[in-house]
Amino acid sequence: MKLVRYDDGRIGAVVNEPSGAADPLRVIDLTAALGIDPLEWPPVGMVRVIKHFEDDRAALEQLISSARGTQFNAARLLTPVPWPNKVIAYPVNYIDHATEMKSTGFADVQGFFLKANSSLIGAHDAIELPALPDRSVHHECELAVIIGREGRGISAADAMDHIFGYACLLDITIRGKEERVMRKSYDTFTVVGPWIVTADEVGDPSDLHMQLWVNDQLKQDATTRDLLVDIPNMVALASSAATLYPGDIIATGTPAGVGPIVDGDIVTIEIERVGRMRVPVKQGTKGRNFVFDRPLKT
Ligand code: MN
Repeated sequence: MKLVRYDDGRIGAVVNEPSGAADPLRVIDLTAALGIDPLEWPPVGMVRVIKHFEDDRAALEQLISSARGTQFNAARLLTPVPWPNKVIAYPVNYIDHATEMKSTGFADVQGFFLKANSSLIGAHDAIELPALPDRSVHHECELAVIIGREGRGISAADAMDHIFGYACLLDITIRGKEERVMRKSYDTFTVVGPWIVTADEVGDPSDLHMQLWVNDQLKQDATTRDLLVDIPNMVALASSAATLYPGDIIATGTPAGVGPIVDGDIVTIEIERVGRMRVPVKQGTKGRNFVFDRPLKT
């Protein structure tokens, strides 16, 4: 199943239009069936949906098979899990990216870091560049793993049972030597979407082709086969330290080909069996501070 958050905070399933119409996808509104208030605060409805999904699944599939739905193209997509317990991210998890960054801080040596949950946006939002004219802001093309079942000390052998699904993820990053969490936690710097595809629909995630274009120029082209720490071991490592909860997001790392994005760019990410999204880049006016006012260290 493909689960979206859209419009004013509704939750829906995306299905194929059987007739082969111009808009091949439709959205079935599951908000009422799931008992979600779209305007609730904090917006934790999707976390609850993920937690109870296996219990609700049969009823949801019944509803989906009988509902007509609305045009997918008319939906305004929001980030699927806007208020997770945490966003975990793996640095330098592809050898070719380590080479281009001249980095030896591999994920199997460094472990993981966190990104601010408030940096999450969805497929129809825009990446806002901070007003740091001396700094380069880079795109990173990543597969997002969405946790389904709570656990601490999860073994790699059991890890796949704790995964709810997958999404496309852009890990936007200010290059520099300052604390990584700060450089990656600016508002709009974690784009997740266009939906969450449940794990059963993706199958084996160990060789998913992923690509990223800036203005239709291919910049990143890789497969999850080349991950240094693979998906089961990322779940195991994260959960050795922190309890993982339904809705937690793991950014699995980026392959080679990262590069700058500037005002007016369109970043497109596509991951096999997961999805595709096109996200505009806009120059913002916020983000200066006394740390980034210091001369750039290289
Ligand atoms: Mn990254």
